[in-house]
Amino acid sequence: MADETPKPDELAQINHNPPWKGWMDTPAEIKKGIYCYAANPKSVEYTGLPNPRSWNPLDDDWKLPREWKKIVREGLKDRLDRFRSLKVFLDICVRCGACADKCHFFIGSGDPKNMPVLRAELLRSVYRGELTKAGQVLGRMAGGRKLTEDVLKEWWTYFFQCTECRRCSVFCPYGIDTAEITILARELLNLLGLNIDWIATPVANCTRTGNHLGIQPHAFKEMIEFFCDDIEEITGVKIEPSFNRKGAEILFITPSGDVFADPGTYTCMGYLMLFHELGLDYTWSTYASEGGNFGFFTSHEMMKRLNAKMYAEAKRLGVKYIIGGECGHMWRVINQYMDTMNGPADFLEVPVSPITGTRFEQAASTKMIHLVEFTADLIKHGKLKLDPSRNDNKIVTFHDSCNPARGMGFFEEPREVIRAACNHFHEMPPNTIREQTFCCGSGSGLNAGEDMELRMRGGFPRANAVKFVHERYGVNMLANICAIDRAALPPLMDYWVPGVDVTGVHELVANALIMEGEQKRETDLRGEELPHLEPEEGGPEGEEE
Ligand code: SF4
Ligand code: SF4
Repeated sequence: MADETPKPDELAQINHNPPWKGWMDTPAEIKKGIYCYAANPKSVEYTGLPNPRSWNPLDDDWKLPREWKKIVREGLKDRLDRFRSLKVFLDICVRCGACADKCHFFIGSGDPKNMPVLRAELLRSVYRGELTKAGQVLGRMAGGRKLTEDVLKEWWTYFFQCTECRRCSVFCPYGIDTAEITILARELLNLLGLNIDWIATPVANCTRTGNHLGIQPHAFKEMIEFFCDDIEEITGVKIEPSFNRKGAEILFITPSGDVFADPGTYTCMGYLMLFHELGLDYTWSTYASEGGNFGFFTSHEMMKRLNAKMYAEAKRLGVKYIIGGECGHMWRVINQYMDTMNGPADFLEVPVSPITGTRFEQAASTKMIHLVEFTADLIKHGKLKLDPSRNDNKIVTFHDSCNPARGMGFFEEPREVIRAACNHFHEMPPNTIREQTFCCGSGSGLNAGEDMELRMRGGFPRANAVKFVHERYGVNMLANICAIDRAALPPLMDYWVPGVDVTGVHELVANALIMEGEQKRETDLRGEELPHLEPEEGGPEGEEE
């Protein structure tokens, strides 16, 4: 955590009083700890995005292209023609305010421009002022304003303070999805070379090596083999996964964060153990070595490009279908956009579990299923031997990651898996979970190191709900099914709720999994001593959800 990040007591003093001046007269303030660094020009150039150059958001001169206003105006016009949803969302807001206090960034910062209604208005006002007759003639009276450098800087500031989480849309009586407005506003900013580095460089890496971290194929393979050695030490079971194997039934793809960053690495060990135990005919790819899609935070075109490589690899290897690991935005892309971008994937087959025979009709078009739905199906059919008491030192709650939750309506399956793998599970308050879940505060590419204050502010409502179950039930483990969450939640917990650790669901499964021929386990996957091998009578006190 950067030294200059205010302490929690200080940060919790949030002023929700609006400023005296109107919002159009209050320019954006680009502050240290709140903004992310500008995109590295090499990354911008590598991906073929416009206007690669060094620039600094704190400078007055952002080195914009000479015709920048024309580029934005025409870009907006083009998108209004292509995306009917954008036009509808810009036209129908009645400013009822139902969304106003639903954004975690507004709750955590008190900044009115983080109210979803006002965030959308930043773009809407320019649409009115530049592209509608009423706005051109009546200006402010019709809610219109002109495009200026200050306006552009305000866009950059606030569209990179939205995690595209869609919580606000749940509360809008008209279904206005401010995340979609942010997505398209970021697309416009990218036309001018105004991306942030934590997005641009992962996108360039993914284009170059197949994953966001820029891991070369041999290093990717070595890392997974290293996990296999650890698994053998803990369980006595030797696992030998295959890589780039043509003719395998299933291609497995997960976020590279699972392969290279704790605690995702333990989740990755969980995948390996589960697949071995099932005898699954699957392979890893060292080329499509990334499930996440930071193209999604850049433009539709970039999202399509990064998504396409997973399907190209499935085709090359001749697999029947794809299983995807515990990721967030990979699933939003697959469920919401894949079909009209790269699909339908007719060269693949509808996924059928080789263990239970279940046909996953929901993936009839994408041919890709989430590992948690696959595992929930195994549990439902009694196909896994689990000893949940091995997780008895963990009192677990579940954070619904925004994308699987609101992007795919994926609520029950992770809970079914956790309940089967753990004896102690407690839900956070109802208005903070499932479709109303609060974002981790670091999604959509904001998981950088330099914007820690923003992340701690944005994650405040989530942390507050964890604090509630931590104090009430002694919850010490926050489970989730998203690699960004596994990276973003540990510092959030350390900051707001020390004593709560973070885990993927398949780490819990693998701890509980009784494997064929395993030795008596002494530790869990983190090398921590197992609490006991027999369930303790009674278990800890406190109401179970
Ligand atoms: S809830 Fe919907 S209609 Fe109401 S202010 Fe928000 S976006 Fe506009
Ligand atoms: S999508 Fe999420 S981050 Fe963006 S305005 Fe809505 S609630 Fe806030």
